[in-house]
Amino acid sequence: MNMKDKTHKWIDAANILRHNINAKVICPECGIGNLTVKDELIKNWPSKIDRYIICNYCGKYNILTMNKNNDSN
Ligand SMILES: [Zn+2]
Repeated sequence: MNMKDKTHKWIDAANILRHNINAKVICPECGIGNLTVKDELIKNWPSKIDRYIICNYCGKYNILTMNKNNDSN
């Protein structure tokens, strides 16, 4: 799998999880684990959160910055 495919799969995963935080999404990196979501508040930026999308198997993650009160746009 090349880098571009992986990036695309992370973006797909993020889109699925944005609509359903409990969706089961297979990790783009290892293809074994499921991705889990963890939201972190951003210091000095109260309207935004960092959403960590983390594999529960290999531990790879991506971070998306998104609006706190408007998850579904
Ligand atoms: Zn993984």
